[in-house]
Amino acid sequence: MYAMDLTNKVAIVTGGISGIGKAIVDAFLDCGAKVAVADMAPPAITESEHLFYQQVDVSNQKQVTAMVDNVAEHFGKIDILVNNAGISTMDYFVDIKEQDWDKTMDVNGKGVYMCMQTVARKLQHQGEGGKIINIASQAGKNGYRLMGSYVASKHAVLGMTKVAAIELAKDQINVNAVCPGIVETEMKKKERVIGGSLRGVNAATIQAEDHSQVPLGRTAVPADIANVVVFLASNYSNYMTGQGINVTGGMTMN
Ligand code: NAD
Repeated sequence: MYAMDLTNKVAIVTGGISGIGKAIVDAFLDCGAKVAVADMAPPAITESEHLFYQQVDVSNQKQVTAMVDNVAEHFGKIDILVNNAGISTMDYFVDIKEQDWDKTMDVNGKGVYMCMQTVARKLQHQGEGGKIINIASQAGKNGYRLMGSYVASKHAVLGMTKVAAIELAKDQINVNAVCPGIVETEMKKKERVIGGSLRGVNAATIQAEDHSQVPLGRTAVPADIANVVVFLASNYSNYMTGQGINVTGGMTMN
């Protein structure tokens, strides 16, 4: 019988406290996995036999190493890593500030590289394969106004996904990315306010623009993205690696 069963699997979800990350955590738990939430935000969850919390800044190697070691010790192993933690900064390209550029690249670029590398070494050592899923974006494939540093950082995520996929294939470690379109989260709300003030329109205008772009007639809820992440974490995706999967309601078809 077909079923997305993750029983006996151990997953790390970075940025798992809110938005898309929280939906991924909930979906993994529903599928029977043990889940470590690795987030910078203070714990807003109650730990249980299946749920473990680690406070971590993914852009800090020392903290990432400690987080990965603690999860492996707590649950006995790691099978799945979801690099979901991310931030966005917005400005016209000619106005991007160096500190915003660095912050965005540090969390979205360097953070994904460090978490992937640290977990990949553990997976290689365990010798039983594994799944790495990076939450990239349509901004990893296309350009969007006001999003220069974010677009660059998400292109980097797709680039490192492909290289890691090639190099880790021999270890039966699948590395894929999910590229969401427009997802209703705190990050998206904030982007509409900041983008609106930069363009001189209100957030509601941008929200209406967002909706009108999606052939399926609505923007995404976090669970729309989590559904695809569960598939990529399951054995049903064993023959897929190095891909950037669009989950956009048909907004982009490249
Ligand atoms: P969100 O702001 O709701 O959640 C992001 C989470 O990441 C938060 O819990 C935050 O505390 C955590 N985080 C941020 N910086 C961190 C750090 N340095 N270390 C550890 N944790 C950190 O955002 P979201 O919309 O759910 O975004 C999740 C991912 O999806 C991001 O990578 C984002 O770029 C990507 N994405 C979002 C959309 C969208 O429309 N919302 C579209 C495409 C891609």
